[in-house]
Amino acid sequence: MNIILLGPPGAGKGTQASRLQEERGMVQLSTGDMLRAAVKDGTPVGLQAKAVMEAGELVSDEIVSGIIGEALDKLPAETGVIFDGYPRTAAQAESLDDILTGRGRKLDHVIELAVDEDALVERITGRFTCEKCGAGYHDTFKQPKVAGTCDQCGSTEFKRRPDDNEETVRTRMAEYRAKTAPILPIYEARGLLQRVDGMADIDVVNTSIEAILDAK
Ligand code: ADP
Ligand code: AMP
Repeated sequence: MNIILLGPPGAGKGTQASRLQEERGMVQLSTGDMLRAAVKDGTPVGLQAKAVMEAGELVSDEIVSGIIGEALDKLPAETGVIFDGYPRTAAQAESLDDILTGRGRKLDHVIELAVDEDALVERITGRFTCEKCGAGYHDTFKQPKVAGTCDQCGSTEFKRRPDDNEETVRTRMAEYRAKTAPILPIYEARGLLQRVDGMADIDVVNTSIEAILDAK
């Protein structure tokens, strides 16, 4: 099964993708995570992407579609994939069709996490992750069970993203509205789009997504 989680920054795509990874053995492909790794490693892609990401703008379609194709090539054909943060433009949506078809895959569901924009700044500015294993947390909505210790791996080191500040979040939301939201009707017309209330609790959102994936 191949699915897309679509929604603005902070909608909960990464949170839900990791739940699906744990529960279904699917693999999350997050272009944001891949680009951050490239920036950290100082690869040619990372060098091109760094300033664009810091500004909250979109990295070029060629770069992100290229890294998605490469990531898919490393997976066994039967492994289900969750696209998180990709596609983000109509051109990327078109590329994804070609990328999937070329690998004998097809798109099964596009799930929109619908959220109030007002809530997103709070979600994003409170977000942090485990430095060691990448598990995601929130200052208010998802604190570690033992304060200061990662639930998953026990590490006590955490980090925050440089682009998770209020000013950059506003740019990222504007990019979403202008370039990403217009791809929703494309998937709707193809009968692939389903909408989930992303303002509900994390567990409730997970249950709604599971119901969509389990429906015939
Ligand atoms: P995205 O990947 O869409 O940018 P994340 O999954 O990283 O968003 O979620 C952003 C922040 O909001 C994280 O700190 C996460 O713990 C928190 N969060 C995610 N889903 C919910 C939810 N349903 N209710 C409250 N907080 C949430
Ligand atoms: P994310 O982790 O999804 O919030 O992405 C962080 C940043 O990486 C974005 O603000 C963009 O600069 C860049 N990025 C991630 N995915 C894409 C994409 N599909 N297209 C263009 N830029 C992307």
